[in-house]
Amino acid sequence: MVLQERKSTMTATSAITSISQGHLNIWETCQRKYQYKYLQELSLSEADLSTQEKLLLGANFHLLMQQKELGLDVSVLASSNVKLQLWLTAFENQPPKMIVGDRLCEHRRILEIPIEMSLHHSQNRDRGQGYFVLTTIYDFLILGDRQAQILDWKTHQVAIPHDQLKNNWQTRLYLYVLAKTTSYAPEQLSMTYWFANTAESVIVCYSQEECDRTEKKLQQILLAIAQAQDYPKLPINSSACDFCEFRDRCDRGDFVNKFLPSSIEDIPEIIISA
Ligand code: SF4
Repeated sequence: MVLQERKSTMTATSAITSISQGHLNIWETCQRKYQYKYLQELSLSEADLSTQEKLLLGANFHLLMQQKELGLDVSVLASSNVKLQLWLTAFENQPPKMIVGDRLCEHRRILEIPIEMSLHHSQNRDRGQGYFVLTTIYDFLILGDRQAQILDWKTHQVAIPHDQLKNNWQTRLYLYVLAKTTSYAPEQLSMTYWFANTAESVIVCYSQEECDRTEKKLQQILLAIAQAQDYPKLPINSSACDFCEFRDRCDRGDFVNKFLPSSIEDIPEIIISA
């Protein structure tokens, strides 16, 4: 497998201006993978990326849903692929429950998080790197009178269990940033994942306790990222290595060229310019 290296000498903090759910999920999975992906910016070659047609299809579904919400004719895009047509029909027949309120598509929010650096790392603080910017992009956000609802479209084969979704950083970060950038109480927020293949919804509710827990964990992770000096590999035979694109670089055998639909961070954030 060919890896393309765009930068190779970046330090832990100088490369990071914003933190997304992807950064947090990968940091918690494997710090070496975080280094390869975000600090050295290694990526799969175009040839390898061609195997990820499913991701592209998922991206097209997000685009279709945005155009539909804007009242545009989506028939041409939907008819371009049988899956897209099936997913659109599933949504029209069995949409997720949605609250009443202002509806926002592909809505971006950011939240600055100051990080207290130790004296040992005061050099970083002197360079103004004692904070991170958390970034979220909501597929669909509804802001109601007394509630706010985040909706996320997933094109996985089957619905992902509630607890797995609840513990993923996409859910934790999206709800946390919404709680911190609006006047809603955490208990007034929820996140609905809608799975296009089965038209199933999985709803994750929120609470002050969960919000506090996320805040504490974020402080720990961001401080660790800011102060990281090296980035250890996972132990040999770790299951996370089995489908990692950096297996050969880590001497963990050949890459298993297979799309993993169970990993929710495999669905890329779709950024659509106005
Ligand atoms: S192969 Fe394993 S150790 Fe290496 S980056 Fe991937 S997950 Fe980490």
